[in-house]
Amino acid sequence: MPALPDAATPTHCPYCALQCAMTLTPAPDAVPAVPTVEGRAFPTNRGGLCKKGWTSPALLGSPDRITAPLIRGADGTFREAGWDEALDLVADRLRETRRLHGADAVGVFGGGGLTNEKAYLLGKFARLALGTSRIDYNGRFCMSSAAAAGTRAFGIDRGLPFPVDHLDAAETVLLLGTNVAETMPPFIGHLTGAQAAGGLIVVDPRRTATVRLTENGQGMHVQPTPGSDLVLLLGLIHIVIAERLWDEAYVAERTAGFPELRRSVSVWWPERVASETGVPVPQLREIARRLATGRGTYILTGRGVEQHVDGTDTATAAINLSLLLGLPGSQHSGYGTLTGQGNGQGGREHGQKADQLPGYRKIADPGARRHVAAVWGIDPAIIPGPGLPAAQLLQSLGQPDGIRAFLVHGSNVVVSAPNAAQVAAGLAALDFLVVCDFFLSETAAIADVVLPVTQWAEEEGTITSLEGRVLRRRRAVSAPPGVRDELWVLHELAERLDAPSTFDVDPEAVFEELRLASEGGIADYSGIDYAMLEAGEAAYWPFPRGSAGTPRLFADRFGHPDGLARIVAVAPTPPAEPLNVDGGLTLITGRLLEHYQSGAQTRRVPELAAAQPHARLQLHPATAARLGIDHDALVEVVNGRGTVRCRARLSVDIRPDTVFLPFHFPADESANVLTLDAVDPISGMPEFKKSAVHVSPVIEA
Ligand code: SF4
Repeated sequence: MPALPDAATPTHCPYCALQCAMTLTPAPDAVPAVPTVEGRAFPTNRGGLCKKGWTSPALLGSPDRITAPLIRGADGTFREAGWDEALDLVADRLRETRRLHGADAVGVFGGGGLTNEKAYLLGKFARLALGTSRIDYNGRFCMSSAAAAGTRAFGIDRGLPFPVDHLDAAETVLLLGTNVAETMPPFIGHLTGAQAAGGLIVVDPRRTATVRLTENGQGMHVQPTPGSDLVLLLGLIHIVIAERLWDEAYVAERTAGFPELRRSVSVWWPERVASETGVPVPQLREIARRLATGRGTYILTGRGVEQHVDGTDTATAAINLSLLLGLPGSQHSGYGTLTGQGNGQGGREHGQKADQLPGYRKIADPGARRHVAAVWGIDPAIIPGPGLPAAQLLQSLGQPDGIRAFLVHGSNVVVSAPNAAQVAAGLAALDFLVVCDFFLSETAAIADVVLPVTQWAEEEGTITSLEGRVLRRRRAVSAPPGVRDELWVLHELAERLDAPSTFDVDPEAVFEELRLASEGGIADYSGIDYAMLEAGEAAYWPFPRGSAGTPRLFADRFGHPDGLARIVAVAPTPPAEPLNVDGGLTLITGRLLEHYQSGAQTRRVPELAAAQPHARLQLHPATAARLGIDHDALVEVVNGRGTVRCRARLSVDIRPDTVFLPFHFPADESANVLTLDAVDPISGMPEFKKSAVHVSPVIEA
């Protein structure tokens, strides 16, 4: 059981990117001996926590904790080992793989839950200790489309380019494909202004908990056909232009690219958009007018519109709409995307991405390579070039010219990656799989070596929240004996692999190096240090040395050299596979209030597991009647990639042509055995949000 410190520790939740502030207090008489938790006053959560936050201390006392390195023996079972033996084995096998197959036969997979320090050191470890270009991370499956669209339009990708509490005063908020009432409940406290003004507009094929916030005159629910979001946005842009609702002065002074957009949307007249999306023309006009006339207007996107093969273009269309209305950079309005994972923002800034060096620098940029190489004390030529985005990286597992040895940190790809059965087959075909985790996740369970590492309240570090605010994660309990910090693991492996640079084990020292590496980059942390964060957590990047940071971006200029935002004309892409044919349905996937990501953590919290122990298929009663399915009946959801067996949950909250599965569950209930690994050509985002399936009842004995 964890050893507790004497005093209360202010820190942040281990889960989502809202990073609610909390205080952990010793409770020596508790069984198991874990601290108690209280919400802490902070602008994002105002003392509130969701169910996941309230129950998060249970993670620290979980009986499932791995407390010694595990090595798989010749008989196929794990045995406990000492750290030296495990690290020597890992280093030997990685060196051997490099010798036999080349450096790019070793792959590294990171996570959006790793601290900034770990994400930074993992990127450096891959490039220098392993010499491989093959590193990417699970944020590719989360934020990549919005990140690519933000970079293209604004020259900077910071999820929310304004503090969350600026939303409070907005009269109109358009939420596109996000169910914040379940994914980050304290966030909805920032929507009350829009609700009071009747201006909360939620676009979602399902009637979710967030949609219910629009009822009783507080806003409207827009329920398009799954995957038609881009057409919907093109239709809104068409109306904004046709009705001269756009901000002509703003567009002229602050943007480039409008004429081409105007030409391209001319074909998206409202009746055509209504027929393709199912959204009636009067509702389309009402949305456009409301967005153009509300005092304080925000447009926010989430994974529902971004996790598609045209996700970057869909996010771009949302940005185009916001630019036409003059929202980004205005004092009381804006555009943003809601980052999902705890450090999904910081995780995409410090070098875990295949094409990136710290500071959100491009790895192919000679100037960026020189800068980072100088910080690392090496020749820039040593740094490998761009690698493969996550889906391609996973597709190459076990292939003759692909990855032969794979290191996974903070990710459970067997459950969370698209086309998951194929990913599992790729992992099984590897010569060597190493997983760093604190539980035996489904991915760790098939590894050759598992290295047990510290979790959130056992470690020091920083996290960057969805609003680009850098926060301190603090140690509130001691890790169990036998568990090590990932920084130490990377240091030890780097030494064994004769890495041509140093790998610090102290989080503050790593952060100091990260500051230097990020200096002058897009995500510049050079003006931030631990002492500043101890004094108060109000540091928003970019925060160049000597500056006061940037809570609100784009007030005067955007991030491109000429200061202008780019309006980019976009068009819909056909679905990656035919939908709703031969009696089939469209599967969409998403989250439940009780669970986080692959569920590797939340499925081990007793209260959460009891509330949502299994995946259930949500389907409309009319569809169920057509298929002969009763409420709670066992059903099979099938396509060419796999099969899910679970219970049915009948609900009028979903369209008759659509079914919904949560993606937190493994094995027979794993939604991602059904999803596609076709990707967006710009961002590498897989098509998670629309898969063709057939559903049928299972006759139970
Ligand atoms: Fe944690 Fe997110 Fe819940 Fe806040 S909303 S308590 S950060 S899971």
